Amino acid sequence: MTAQIINGKEISAAFRKTLAQKIADFPSEDMPVLAVILVGDDDASKIYVRNKQKAAAEVGIGCEVMEFSSTIGEQALLNVIDELNANHHIDGIIVQLPLPKHLDRLKILSRIAPSKDVDGFSPYNTGLLSYNSPDAFISATPKGILHLLLSTGIELEGKHAVIIGRSNIVGRPVSTLLLNQNCTVTITHSRTQDLPSIVKTADIIIAACGQPCLIKGDWIKEGAVVIDVGINRIDGKLCGDVDFAEAVNKASFITPVPGGVGPMTVAMLLANTFAAFCRHQQSSHHCNCDHHHCNCQG
Ligand code: NDP
Repeated sequence: MTAQIINGKEISAAFRKTLAQKIADFPSEDMPVLAVILVGDDDASKIYVRNKQKAAAEVGIGCEVMEFSSTIGEQALLNVIDELNANHHIDGIIVQLPLPKHLDRLKILSRIAPSKDVDGFSPYNTGLLSYNSPDAFISATPKGILHLLLSTGIELEGKHAVIIGRSNIVGRPVSTLLLNQNCTVTITHSRTQDLPSIVKTADIIIAACGQPCLIKGDWIKEGAVVIDVGINRIDGKLCGDVDFAEAVNKASFITPVPGGVGPMTVAMLLANTFAAFCRHQQSSHHCNCDHHHCNCQG
């Protein structure tokens, strides 16, 4: 078997095109605005923020980047978030991760108003996701993964999904999201025993462990769907957490790295920002659309 490639780049481009049209058609003079807080000098973070800014501009979302020194104090950062929370022109707020060690990530992320938490990392929104509430802002990478899975047309209900990784950013929210889709979910991590045997039972594999090419072809059940979230660099070359050359001969569908999950992440962040904008417009009685009908979540 040779797997069909799930082309995240194309799927993301189509999604962003549709989103741009929805934003253009939105009956308001206002424009959705995303505030991005960037702390420190991490080169990768700077690139991610620049990509978000560019992608936002392309769909008609304003993006205000606020840069701070890595020595900023916790209270000062909390004050910045308070100001953004109170600013009616700002629809979404994200804090680019990772943060310097002296800043308490949970405390900072918890400070973002739930209605502006478009990364969905706050305890409030992760709680709503656990309740399978339609009001949850689902964090971008997990939401993008679900979008890619749905794009294959496979039935998710009843499937065994094995997730490799339990981070708050990927593994845990993906597990909740797939549970909400009626998958049977197994979460694995660095202390899991006999990982290959567990992966072998999966109909759907979500690899999010940050270990280059860890998942080998002979770990994969014939016909499984493989979503590779990992972004690793070996000798300057990007690779995922799955040994693609082997896996492509076992899976039915597989995401490449790059060009799989990565491009979806920014698209989903933009969709969440537009959804926050729609909610704000509605709550301030500017919006004629019913959020649940305008499908602004994408
Ligand atoms: P973290 O480092 O926060 O978490 C990694 C997880 O993988 C942990 O739960 C860890 O277990 C587990 N793990 C590590 N080694 C093994 C192993 N040998 N076997 C089984 N489990 C293992 O990473 P993130 O979740 O933030 O990211 C994961 C990967 O996804 C990275 O490569 C990252 O770059 C990429 N990524 C890609 C994004 C995209 O847009 N495409 C977005 C976000 C991340 P334990 O908890 O026990 O330590």
